[in-house]
Amino acid sequence: MIRLFNTLSGQIEVLAPADASSFRMYACGPTVYDYGHIGNFRTFCHVDVLRRALLLEGLKLRHVMNITDVDDKIIRNAAQAGVPISEYTKKFERAFFEDLDALTVAHPEVIARATENISTMVRLIQRLAAQGYAYRTEDGSWYFRISRFPEYGKLSKKDLSGMADGARVDVDEYEKDSARDFALWKAPKPGEHFWQTELGPGRPGWHIECSAMAMEYLGDTLDLHAGGEDLMFPHHENEIAQSECATHHTFARHWFHVRFLLVEGRKMSKSEGNFFTLRDLLLKGYKASAIRMLLISVPYRQQLNFTFEGLAGETAAVDRLRTFHQRMMSAPRATETNRELLAETEVCLRGFRAGLENDLNTAEARAAIFDLVRAGNIAADAGAVSEENAAVILETLREFDSVFAVLEDRDSAITKFALDWAEQEGRLDQAAPEVIAQQGLSDERIQALVEERTQAKRSRNFARADQIRNDLAGKGILIEDSKDGVRWRRK
Ligand code: AMP
Ligand code: ZN
Repeated sequence: MIRLFNTLSGQIEVLAPADASSFRMYACGPTVYDYGHIGNFRTFCHVDVLRRALLLEGLKLRHVMNITDVDDKIIRNAAQAGVPISEYTKKFERAFFEDLDALTVAHPEVIARATENISTMVRLIQRLAAQGYAYRTEDGSWYFRISRFPEYGKLSKKDLSGMADGARVDVDEYEKDSARDFALWKAPKPGEHFWQTELGPGRPGWHIECSAMAMEYLGDTLDLHAGGEDLMFPHHENEIAQSECATHHTFARHWFHVRFLLVEGRKMSKSEGNFFTLRDLLLKGYKASAIRMLLISVPYRQQLNFTFEGLAGETAAVDRLRTFHQRMMSAPRATETNRELLAETEVCLRGFRAGLENDLNTAEARAAIFDLVRAGNIAADAGAVSEENAAVILETLREFDSVFAVLEDRDSAITKFALDWAEQEGRLDQAAPEVIAQQGLSDERIQALVEERTQAKRSRNFARADQIRNDLAGKGILIEDSKDGVRWRRK
């Protein structure tokens, strides 16, 4: 049973679906106006951890994510580029999914694009207007009247007593401290893209998008709603107001907010200019698996300060896990089962599960697995790992990896993908020279060289063996001789 902090109640609560058939969750998706930065992906990776942990519990999931493919920034950028908004967003939507795949983030069951759900939004606004929660202004825009919803502020715990009735704001992202009537529907400014609807010409505000699509695909009451901490106010507060005023039901029973990724103590963000995209890091030679590991290893309730040292540490951690996994598959088997190791494995598995169940404490969960790596390696050094020991350890690693998803080595293919993209976009100058050199060698070619080196050593041609080793090292390929044989890996 997973216990998770609920922003709405301020308490840790057991997570369970209201209706046993499936767990219904909604996570705010990206605004596809540019490449996402790794701060955005920290949130998506932690939602993925939640998703995977729920599946591990045996729950059936219905997870919906929106794609915001129309908003102020998209309209501005598409106009600057001189292309229709759909053409402009398509490229960044594709890039977003490529980045999710690189980070092994599983896709939700439903992807809902704002521009494909306009009529649902229009109906929701009409429903609000019919009950006196929405009003139209002279320019043809529609606003939500927050003074009609006394519970406004219950999620972010803001005191809104000084709020001015009727003060309005029409930008999607506004000052974090001022509660104002917010736009549900925006009349078009000259030259802007618009939809002709029963509300008049215009386009939806950002907040109504999520309310309308969440309820369309999941029903009036969701089991859980997720997003980054910056969305708590005003976005999620506005979603609650719109949805609960329309339906008179609780909108989401549980609110899950992922804390920020920081750079030198400040939120990583486009506007601060202190961001890295996933592709920036891949081109510098960092591995996708290490980036995922870094983003998820600090629990979602804590902010995470991004550093390159931290990333290098996670690269080593993933290598250590993979080497151990390999070793448990191939190490020579002892005939007798090591009872002590069997018991240690059981303790580690329980520690892993307990960590996840404890408010998705990924740090605790992974620490238990590294305890297992230590114990397993000591036993393997002593030749004391039996078939049964190895099987139970491998099963534990499988369970760990169903959530952490870092054992399978796709890193080289992902880096190759990033390089191809950089070449197409004319950005190869952003790639580190060793990354370009390393990718020039296929896995088959490396394997052949490694075998040639082994042969050279056997025939005591140490000069040739050393030469191969050094050449490969210069291209970022490391050969490791161990008791269990020769392995190579890309640095
Ligand atoms: P956006 O595409 O800007 O709407 O953001 C997508 C998701 O990333 C939202 O859930 C944001 O809350 C989240 N987000 C934005 N910046 C950060 C950050 N520095 N750390 C963690 N999550 C973030
Ligand atoms: Zn949203």
